Amino acid sequence: MKKHRNIPIFVPHLGCPNTCVFCNQRKISGHEKADFSSAEGEIEAALATIPQGTDVQIAYFGGSFTGIDREDMIYLLALAKKYIDEGRVQSIRLSTRPDYIDEEILDILSRYGVRSIELGIQSMCDDVLAASGRGHTAAQTERACKLICERGFELVGQMMTGLPCSTLEKDKYTAEKICAMGASGARIYPTVVFRGTELENMMNRGGYKSREMENVIAEGAELVGIFARHGVKIIRIGLQASELLTEGSETVSPYHEATGELIWARYLRNEAESALAGEQTAGKRAVFTVAKGSTSKMVGQKKENLIYLKEKYSLCDIKVRESEALSCDKIEMILEERKKAYAT
Ligand code: SF4
Repeated sequence: MKKHRNIPIFVPHLGCPNTCVFCNQRKISGHEKADFSSAEGEIEAALATIPQGTDVQIAYFGGSFTGIDREDMIYLLALAKKYIDEGRVQSIRLSTRPDYIDEEILDILSRYGVRSIELGIQSMCDDVLAASGRGHTAAQTERACKLICERGFELVGQMMTGLPCSTLEKDKYTAEKICAMGASGARIYPTVVFRGTELENMMNRGGYKSREMENVIAEGAELVGIFARHGVKIIRIGLQASELLTEGSETVSPYHEATGELIWARYLRNEAESALAGEQTAGKRAVFTVAKGSTSKMVGQKKENLIYLKEKYSLCDIKVRESEALSCDKIEMILEERKKAYAT
């Protein structure tokens, strides 16, 4: 299978008429204003680092691409199409809102070579959408997903956890719906409260309580389990490093820059527990096989997963191996008898 690379181009939605309570786009992006003149240079610079034979997508992220000024949208699509026509890029990926999808928009996207549409679904519960100021309904999302899938685009569902009015059950429902609506990929974003947002005001008024990190991790791991069961690939959990605001002054909710790692680690620990359940584990060695590159997630920060599992199941030892044959949501386990130590 060809390796895949995105060339991300940030497209802020200047003048966005919506009022999502969690949004402070300039703070999230680190950009002050749109500057499309640099897009071509960014694409060229990225292409210079990408090996031949890679499946490359120009990815217009950051805002609601199909809701920006129409001339800007066409300019950016035409720019990307030029690279597609030259054979240097294979397709376009973009993120947008459910209410900015209709037949006419999809016609345009199709003409310019868009393959993947990431939809900011956030929640499939109308009360959560309303309390979050999203300005669209779950029915609109359902309709947008249907149109996107019918037209043959790849659908990626972006959801947020811990929004106002939401519960674990509602977040799980949203994840299930994203799978049922035909998404092949998902992004999970635990809600982060940024300074200066309406969500911060709500928090100050007592109308919103942010989740403790332990809840964010435990709940996130459950959602990973849902997507894994449905074979929906999780593209990302938590904000990107470039979007992280480590100064601390910018965020006013509990927050960890490695949220995604922590959630994956908890998911793998849960999977390990499922494998261990019902087995005679005392004094034995457990050998877990995980996907290539997943050892650190299996081990956990400061080896906390290994310590937890060893203690809870009275294991004498735990080994972690990697296999290219496993996807990152799969784990295999064998239990071995303890090897006797011989003194010479
Ligand atoms: S998150 Fe909401 S308010 Fe912010 S840019 Fe996107 S649509 Fe507009």
